[in-house]
Amino acid sequence: MKQKKFILQESEIPTQWYNILADMPNKPMPPLHPATKQPLGWEDLAHIFPEECSKQELNMTDRFIDIPEEVLDKYKFYRSTPLVRAYELEKALGTPAHIYFKNESTNPLGSHKINSALPQCYYAKQEGTTNVTTETGAGQWGAALAYAAKIFGLECAVYQVKISMQQKPYRSSIMRTFGAAVTGSPSMSTRAGKDILTVNPTHSGSLGTAISEALELAQTTPHCKYVLGSVLNHVALHQTIIGLEAEKQMALAGEYPDTVIACFGGGSNFGGIAFPFMRHNISGERQTEFIAAEPESCPKLTRGKFMYDFGDEAGYTPLLPMFTLGHQFKPANIHAGGLRYHGAGMIVSQLIKDQMMHGVDIPQLESFDAGMLFARTEGIIPAPESCHAIAATIREAKKCCETGQEKVILFNLSGHGLIDMSAYDQYIDGDLQNYKLTDEQIAANL
Ligand SMILES: *Cc1c(COP(=O)(O)O)cnc(C)c1O
Repeated sequence: MKQKKFILQESEIPTQWYNILADMPNKPMPPLHPATKQPLGWEDLAHIFPEECSKQELNMTDRFIDIPEEVLDKYKFYRSTPLVRAYELEKALGTPAHIYFKNESTNPLGSHKINSALPQCYYAKQEGTTNVTTETGAGQWGAALAYAAKIFGLECAVYQVKISMQQKPYRSSIMRTFGAAVTGSPSMSTRAGKDILTVNPTHSGSLGTAISEALELAQTTPHCKYVLGSVLNHVALHQTIIGLEAEKQMALAGEYPDTVIACFGGGSNFGGIAFPFMRHNISGERQTEFIAAEPESCPKLTRGKFMYDFGDEAGYTPLLPMFTLGHQFKPANIHAGGLRYHGAGMIVSQLIKDQMMHGVDIPQLESFDAGMLFARTEGIIPAPESCHAIAATIREAKKCCETGQEKVILFNLSGHGLIDMSAYDQYIDGDLQNYKLTDEQIAANL
């Protein structure tokens, strides 16, 4: 019988994360202070983020970083996650390619975000922090953080984009079940929120408004730190547990990927699965291809510009060197909420410049075509974000139908879509559309 699923024993779960910064031939340019334009040190970042995360953010020397014992214990609640051979999908496509996926949807929160929420809360607690705060759009990050804060004994306050809160009400239910205080942004609870609502009383919110409110709360509350679920180097570092496990599991399957694919919002699940394999490209042992799948409506990797830009709409964050569509870019209201971010993380931006990976753009309808086929063959309903990775995988597998090549393709299933069923309803009813941008629309915010 053909083996479908590859799982590691508890004792085989990696005990260190992989820090690609140490191996990169060209390091990313440093983050800059928004006013002075001087490079930031970890001490500057530690005013906002947990101290250990601030150090990891700028660590260019340690290739492997120990996962704290307490975090490993919590990882074991749900790790290892399965590596699965998608035989049924292969059959439906008639492809000679071998398709594998790493299933990060099996934890109680349903996405990979928990892999970084746990260490961030652990470090915050160790450092004497009592409260954490963040923003969330669709709510996967907020849900993961609420859970991690609860099990490490921290208070958690989440500002959720008001329109998303209304569209995906169960995600705020999950956050509240884990004890987080959830506030629709813009709100009357902060100066920033009041200012926004004074000008526009019916403002439906954006990640920009939610970041401003969370930052203000962190800065005006003693022992409160602001934490982020994507974009930053330390978040991708924590996510490398995905790829390090996958590497061992691929060995159990007796294969090594020719192509590694993940969807792309800020880069954390992509970096998580890709960087451990990329280290073998950097050392010259392998020539794996790396593909980041972004939505056609938010194409920073393929059509953005490389420059210093803010991480948020209001311009409060440090300036980061990245491929960006401009920090005031307003993406269409697609269902893949986690991919509606204007910029790419610093590491990935440098890797694209150095041609060590590339992006592809997926139209919304193609992403749902792919998600439906995956659901009907493999029995898992993927998150709208993950559908982009599946669509890119299907494109590659179809190329193999023409060439006859038995390519080994590995993609990351970043989450399940069980709280996104209204999106599937709309797709099935024919109510979804594509949003292709003109060059003028892209240039407008740059
Ligand atoms: C947040 C999220 C993403 C996008 O974020 P990255 O940092 O690019 O990984 C993708 N998939 C799911 C399920 C998410 O929750």
